[in-house]
Amino acid sequence: MPELRKDPIVGRWVIISTERARRPSDFASEPVRLAGGDCPFCPGSEELTPPEILAFRPSGSPPNTPGWSLRVVPNKFPALRIEGDIEPSGEGPFDRMNGVGAHEVVIETTDHLASLSTLPVERVADVLLAYRERLADLKKDPRFEYVLVFKNHGEAAGASLEHPHSQLIATPIIPVMVEEELAGAARYYERKERCVWCDVLRHERRGRRRLVAEADGFVAVAPFAPRFPFETWILPARHRSAFEESGVEELRGLATLLGDFLRRMSRVLRDPPYNFMLHTAPLRDSALEHFHWHLEVIPKLTRVAGFEWGSGFFINPVPPEDAAAALRESVG
Ligand code: ZN
Ligand code: ZN
Repeated sequence: MPELRKDPIVGRWVIISTERARRPSDFASEPVRLAGGDCPFCPGSEELTPPEILAFRPSGSPPNTPGWSLRVVPNKFPALRIEGDIEPSGEGPFDRMNGVGAHEVVIETTDHLASLSTLPVERVADVLLAYRERLADLKKDPRFEYVLVFKNHGEAAGASLEHPHSQLIATPIIPVMVEEELAGAARYYERKERCVWCDVLRHERRGRRRLVAEADGFVAVAPFAPRFPFETWILPARHRSAFEESGVEELRGLATLLGDFLRRMSRVLRDPPYNFMLHTAPLRDSALEHFHWHLEVIPKLTRVAGFEWGSGFFINPVPPEDAAAALRESVG
């Protein structure tokens, strides 16, 4: 059983998960590159994954067989386990909790060689719809406080299988990075009585220096103080705190802008490895005036090293105004 442990000084939780070390990719010196028939996410290999939780397939098509266009399955090597109650315990100055959670994989397409930047907009919208369905379902489980949806694209960004997929992890606590955003946004709201992201959007749409793209109710902007080169936020133009409350049309708008943005990034940076992370409101407190959900996209271009680890300062060699201009001017 994995375990959650809290650092008594900064309050940061970590997951101690020895089962993850059994993944073939861990500690291996050769990259995992399974193609075609050997890939557990390709059609025909359904028995190689745990049974599906959700699938988009024609009605009458039996589960865990080919015929699907998207599948959601439990991660075979989960960071947290779905079984059990939450049992907090102490040991001297320390807090711990058993590692209860959900760890799921969204297999985005049947096409091993596709990516979110090459899939048609309807397929990208299906991926976002799957995120929404899983968030809404996991919200019903009272043990969970948060669901983090994320994607690792490319080996350098942590992907251990190349078949297009994203993941989500439901946790019994709110992750520290989301807590920090919630606290900062609440302080801003207290002073100005406005959502900070709404203010950022208003400013950037007027000045346009850090604006990357806009379409169908969504905006992509370079943050004013990005940690990494070409770091970009994608967010709804209208105030929305809970991703799972997005309508089908909204998700289609997001799919349009996300696909457009990923193609721009791919052209400008030559298909870089990247991560994206969805920051939405906590499950138990989802209608918030001061929190605005957003997708953070970070291409993997630099390494985090000693100064960053030791200080929390990030040294970014590319001004966000230059990054935004390059992405904005890239035409397919
Ligand atoms: Zn595959
Ligand atoms: Zn807002």
